[in-house]
Amino acid sequence: MRRLPRERPAEPPRGYQLAHPVLAEDCGRIGFAGITTGGAQPYGVVDEARCQYGRRHRAPALRCDCGFSCLHTFAQAFALARSGTHRRAAILEIAVLGPYIRFERGMRHARQRVRVARIAPCGCGRPPEVFVDAGWGRTGWRGMSGRCGDCAAGHGQVSFEDFVRIGGGRLRVLPGHRDTGPARPGPEAVGGGRGARR
Ligand SMILES: [Zn+2]
Ligand SMILES: [Zn+2]
Repeated sequence: MRRLPRERPAEPPRGYQLAHPVLAEDCGRIGFAGITTGGAQPYGVVDEARCQYGRRHRAPALRCDCGFSCLHTFAQAFALARSGTHRRAAILEIAVLGPYIRFERGMRHARQRVRVARIAPCGCGRPPEVFVDAGWGRTGWRGMSGRCGDCAAGHGQVSFEDFVRIGGGRLRVLPGHRDTGPARPGPEAVGGGRGARR
């Protein structure tokens, strides 16, 4: 097995990932359904990765592709969202917690906290103001889609404020895929070493 240089960042590295907001059927929990193979099982605002293949190791593992994954920059996530089938996904800004493996484009990691969810524009192009049922779900969960006030009329609605409150209050939900920019340096500016590259 390769030995990787260790990084000791002064604060949790920041990353970006695409996911769809989901609300539990009983409205008691919120979560996010990822766009990759792990998307079948939504994760919470703070959550821990498990190997999605059921292997008996901690995620992430070098010889497996399990674990949370994220991109380094908002621009990378925005490009992915614009590239095709993920235009309706939210762009999440996350704090990477626990062990991680750094790659050129992003990281795979063990734990994370969602700090900001930037909700995709309404289908009509205007900024989203409220969530409505997206018309799909996962077991026990309903997908949520951002809509403007006009397009949401006549649908059951969940306000962004309620979504945040149900999620414990520390998450920020912002309308649109705009980069309001982290005020502090990104993950490349912290930590001393370089991780694996491929
Ligand atoms: Zn695994
Ligand atoms: Zn609209």
